[in-house]
Amino acid sequence: MHTQLHAGAPSAALPDVSWHSCDTAEALTHLESALDGLSHGEAAERLTRFGANRLPETKPRSALSRLLMQFHNVLIYVLLGAAVVTLMLGHQIDAGVILAVVLINAVIGFVQEGKAENALRAIGNMLSPEAMVKRAGQQLSVAAEALVPGDIVLLQPGDRVPADIRLLQVNGLHIQESALTGESLAVSKQAAAVDENTALADRLSMAYSGTLVTRGQASGVVVATGSHTELGHISRLVSSVEQVSTPLLKQIAQFGHWLTIAILVLASLTFVLGVWLRAYSADAMFLAAVSLAVAAIPEGLPAIMTITLALGVQRMARRNAIIRKLPAVETLGAVSVICSDKTGTLTRNELTVRSIAIVGAHYSLNGTGYSPEGCINSESQPDDAGHHAVLNELLQKAVLCNDTALTLEDGHWRVHGDPMEGALCVAAMKDRLDIESLRHRYPRTDVIPFDSKHKFMATLHHDHEGAACLIVKGAPEHVLEMCLYQAGKDRAEPIELTLWTQKIEAMAAEGQRILAIATRTEPAQKTALDFDDVQSGLTLLGLVGLLDPPREEAISAIARCHSAGVRVKMITGDHAATALAIAAQLNLQNHREALTGRMIDTLSDEALRDTVREVDVYARVTPEHKLRLVRLLQSHGMIVAMTGDGVNDAPALKRADVGTAMGCNGTEAAKEAAEMVLADDNFASIGHALEEGRTVYDNLRKAILFILPTNGGEALVILAAIVLGFTELPLTPVQILWVNMITAVTLALALAFEPAEADIMQRPPRKPDVPLLNRHLIWRIGFVSVILMSGTFALYLWSLEHGASLAEARTVAVNTLVLFEIFYLFNARYIVAPVLNRAGIIGNPLVLGAIAVLLLFQMAFTYLPPLHTLFGTAPIASRDWLLIALVSSSVLFLVEVEKAWLRRRHAS
Ligand code: ADP
Ligand code: MG
Repeated sequence: MHTQLHAGAPSAALPDVSWHSCDTAEALTHLESALDGLSHGEAAERLTRFGANRLPETKPRSALSRLLMQFHNVLIYVLLGAAVVTLMLGHQIDAGVILAVVLINAVIGFVQEGKAENALRAIGNMLSPEAMVKRAGQQLSVAAEALVPGDIVLLQPGDRVPADIRLLQVNGLHIQESALTGESLAVSKQAAAVDENTALADRLSMAYSGTLVTRGQASGVVVATGSHTELGHISRLVSSVEQVSTPLLKQIAQFGHWLTIAILVLASLTFVLGVWLRAYSADAMFLAAVSLAVAAIPEGLPAIMTITLALGVQRMARRNAIIRKLPAVETLGAVSVICSDKTGTLTRNELTVRSIAIVGAHYSLNGTGYSPEGCINSESQPDDAGHHAVLNELLQKAVLCNDTALTLEDGHWRVHGDPMEGALCVAAMKDRLDIESLRHRYPRTDVIPFDSKHKFMATLHHDHEGAACLIVKGAPEHVLEMCLYQAGKDRAEPIELTLWTQKIEAMAAEGQRILAIATRTEPAQKTALDFDDVQSGLTLLGLVGLLDPPREEAISAIARCHSAGVRVKMITGDHAATALAIAAQLNLQNHREALTGRMIDTLSDEALRDTVREVDVYARVTPEHKLRLVRLLQSHGMIVAMTGDGVNDAPALKRADVGTAMGCNGTEAAKEAAEMVLADDNFASIGHALEEGRTVYDNLRKAILFILPTNGGEALVILAAIVLGFTELPLTPVQILWVNMITAVTLALALAFEPAEADIMQRPPRKPDVPLLNRHLIWRIGFVSVILMSGTFALYLWSLEHGASLAEARTVAVNTLVLFEIFYLFNARYIVAPVLNRAGIIGNPLVLGAIAVLLLFQMAFTYLPPLHTLFGTAPIASRDWLLIALVSSSVLFLVEVEKAWLRRRHAS
């Protein structure tokens, strides 16, 4: 029943094989592949034949349904209702304008939303997984998209299985297949074939695309790629299109919803009271009520908020922080503590072996990077052949108990795999070892892979004569416990523990990361390794000290975090002394004391709760400790960003407020659990994301602060006119719609592009429980609404007094309102900082551009005859303009005075 059909490509047909039930050799024959993998040429040829290994693009919502959704909105219903009634009352032009506005509004919303969605989709595509393959006998990592049937793939814990794979060699492999079967318990896999009629979920000899490796290792051969995989058949991923929304946006949307209802009630009340008490005509009063509703509803706000958010996410992506879950954008602005991995995030992850300690001798190594040039110098005099034999054996074993390959690519040495293991290969080459032939002479029979929980790796090797040996490399404290002997003059010298402990302390104090290497000969018939085999009786060969310098950017990013009131904590599996040495170079706040995993285990939650506030360095910790740390920090009300890369980090990443996974060295499992992924694994990118997160939050507040007073001012004008018994309103509904629309697409949009304020990283983090619309913002909105209303109303009355026609007076009122907006836009650029300075006036060129465009629109509105008919406007004199500019500029100064008063009150 289960067959691989490659019907799409004519010459691409693979044999019709039931892969799970054929044996491994058979599978390789069918796929014309071998354990050493395909040749590079063959892989390239197959890629053109079978196509890229990716699922068809997820289908975005259809354009039509997106357009129709734009009309599903209370405001639109109000407007459509108003248009119908206006038409029945005989105002065809007004009805036409209202309808046009509805349409234009929908189109603008449609375009903007589309842009935001596209931006987010593009960012989603930046996370392209890699796969470890064997080609032409060499191990290398390639983009998962480049996999072809016949490729030999190596699976590691945390990997997302990149294609459908027939397993060849399996080592404790467990796979979580919920993406395919919905079953969340991991399944233990095997290489042996299963019965042909086995159901998908029970095909233990297969690993399917999209599932997650939780434990163990395996190699296998790719049998299907892209849409031919089982995942491709069900393509359940298609429906996972994320919506552009966050808790904050939802809150705002809800606020908007209630505001609209309140406004509608108010408008109806006004209508009833006006007709009843003031004896207005129903016709006039209806128009007034519609004006009020249209004036007060902030129609542009949701769109501007969405755009602000999307722009923020885009900026973060440009600075290497890829947001996977949108709410994280808001949370970032409130982060008060960052827990970061050391290796690779705070440090460069370019390791070099600096020293090697064996019994009776100490060597230092020079040379830079991964280039195997450099030499090994003995620091003890004289260096004898006996010592060198031990050194050479240590390096041989370090290369065998090792999963990396070094390649020379255009003059540059590149590591495929763990950089630390790569550094060991480099050191071995400095002692003129031939890695390839060594690995051929001692093929590996079994392995216990490295895990940050047990902190060592062990391998078993048999040479061609059948002699077997076990190699363990790992954190020295753990390896020392396994050793009884040390390799001195005699292979079975009893181990001198105190001597080694001293050496470890001395090397760690220099910031070196230390590995111990131990070995034991094994009976030839031994072919499988388990944890009992490495408990005791090993011979220690020596210690390797590696240096991994801190990243320069990380040092400055940490300083910035500190000034922004964000505490940085380092969490590492490394030795405490190593961690403290690096912490001092990084200038962590507290680099004098470290808490180790063991100490964490002995402390109760209460005791630990206080300690975690003070301690910044956590050493020899396992992923489980991370989860506990996050919990305890959160119990102080802190908002925690936590980094992680391994499968076991997933729970802590999920629990943290902003779980952050590594894009390069992180596993797919970690990325899946994270809110944010760092494209460059660099701590500095977290700092940038923090800054952008704060900026987005600021800009959302600025958008609200800018848009709501416009509506407030307009509504107050209408209300005042009704209350004062004016028969003609200063603003008609279509004029109000004009103002709202034209300012939303110019001024408010420019505000969404507002760059970060200069002091953004000098403020303490935002308190998470303070609402977006705090008391101060509400006050500001009211204050500005009143200013706008007073100025507009006053100039309207003044014009009428001085003999202007109704159309002219209304044109003056509209222009006053718009100019008020222009001046107020400058105020709104900074919430409390002053803007009457160079940066405040010309700091955002988009603001100036938007103003220029808006003024052109206002000219058309005032002087173009067709618009006179549509909007009931009339040309006004230049004297009027002068007056309008004078009156409307008042808002700029009044709000600046208010800000100054506010700053003074805060300072005292
Ligand atoms: P980190 O938080 O610095 O990444 P890890 O948990 O990766 O720490 O490593 C902790 C310790 O385990 C290291 O100091 C080193 O001694 C040892 N170690 C790390 N990687 C390997 C490996 N691939 N093989 C053996 N031992 C390792
Ligand atoms: Mg590590």
